[in-house]
Amino acid sequence: MSQTLQAVRGMNDVLPEEAAFWELFEDTVRTWLKGYGYKPIRMPIVEPTPLFKRAIGEVTDIVEKEMYSFIDGLNGEALTLRPEGTAGCVRAVIEHNLAARQTQRLYYIGQMFRHERPQKGRYRQFHQVGVETFGIAGPDIDAELILMGARLWADLGLDGIELQINSLGQPAERAEHRAALIAYLEQHVDLLDEDGKRRLYTNPLRILDTKNPALQDICAAAPKLIDFLGAESLAHFEGVQQVLRDAGQPFTINPRLVRGLDYYNLTVFEWVTDKLGAQGTVCAGGRYDGLVEQLGGKPTPACGFAMGVERLIALIRDSGGAPAEPAPDVYLVHQGEAAGRMAFRVAEGLRDQGLDVLLHCGGGSFKSQMKKADGSGAAFAVIIGDEEASTGEAQLKALREEGVAQRRLKVDELAEAIIDHMIDSDEEE
Ligand code: ATP
Ligand code: MG
Repeated sequence: MSQTLQAVRGMNDVLPEEAAFWELFEDTVRTWLKGYGYKPIRMPIVEPTPLFKRAIGEVTDIVEKEMYSFIDGLNGEALTLRPEGTAGCVRAVIEHNLAARQTQRLYYIGQMFRHERPQKGRYRQFHQVGVETFGIAGPDIDAELILMGARLWADLGLDGIELQINSLGQPAERAEHRAALIAYLEQHVDLLDEDGKRRLYTNPLRILDTKNPALQDICAAAPKLIDFLGAESLAHFEGVQQVLRDAGQPFTINPRLVRGLDYYNLTVFEWVTDKLGAQGTVCAGGRYDGLVEQLGGKPTPACGFAMGVERLIALIRDSGGAPAEPAPDVYLVHQGEAAGRMAFRVAEGLRDQGLDVLLHCGGGSFKSQMKKADGSGAAFAVIIGDEEASTGEAQLKALREEGVAQRRLKVDELAEAIIDHMIDSDEEE
């Protein structure tokens, strides 16, 4: 016997029962995005490795240890499975000159890859909904992006997702804070963990983002970036908060919120729940005004966020919101050669009228086919034997109602009879 193969660790199959939740989620997300004027964009899953090094930053968890990078054996190119979507989206915007004449509101849904330790809510292949805007500098768009989240949680029937915001200021302000932070951390260097020591001079801000509980006290007392922000940065931050207050959206300012990617400035935010254990952030984003230029484009303000689909689906499932079991309108039962050939035409004809039809395939007795029809959840069985086929007729049987007689109809009367019957039973309800 050959060895059985399994999916790669941390990369999950989504089986039909769960996939129904994914489809419901994606439908809701697309409708929601349309309501805010966002347009879809689709980027490749593989990008040149230098894109991520330049965009995300060399001294970040993602680039240092989480990327699936490889050399294309055919041409020696250094490639990476995308660990996030913003870098590729910015590359595409530059490459196709999308932000030149107009502002852009874009979104994508798809797989991301990070070599992390798999656990609940953390996988090696996971999915994000990414939402990005280009060409808008003011705090209005930051606030709109944040408020969009609140509407989606409501659309999905989720509660208990809380908003945290912070401002990372501008690069010059960060440089000043960085110097103060290094001076502070140098006094506590013995207490830093290995990552902390290594990042002390390369990326000290990232130390504040640590998940190591032993460092919480040191981090809590460290100099806060917000105290280094100048008037303009503070005004931007205040502008965001003003819109949130006007909208009645509660939020907490979390000075420790620094995000795991280097490209952010000014506004950063996360939506967090305590219902998922340690992996509680379901949506995270912020402003990244420098990134387009840093990747070779014209200076273009930008702001966006990404949501973790697996984490949101877990919340939806826990909240008990089950999608309706999809059932066809009609199960088409047939026996005999002429009937079998006619069944294809009848099925297509019913679909032309907008009905969902499950055509029985694989033969078998009428009795076994009727069992399958029942099990499919279909509202009707359409039954064709050779006798019906010879007169261009079919039997129509209501499967979910008592006391409705089976009827023999011309095949071109079937659709109307089914649709009329569905309207009648809707009205009775
Ligand atoms: P975390 O702090 O949980 O590691 P992150 O800061 O690395 O998150 P981002 O890069 O901001 O995450 O990605 C945005 C969202 O994508 C996260 O808030 C989370 O919901 C989801 N996400 C990130 N990494 C994973 C993963 N490995 N598995 C599942 N979802 C993930
Ligand atoms: Mg992470």
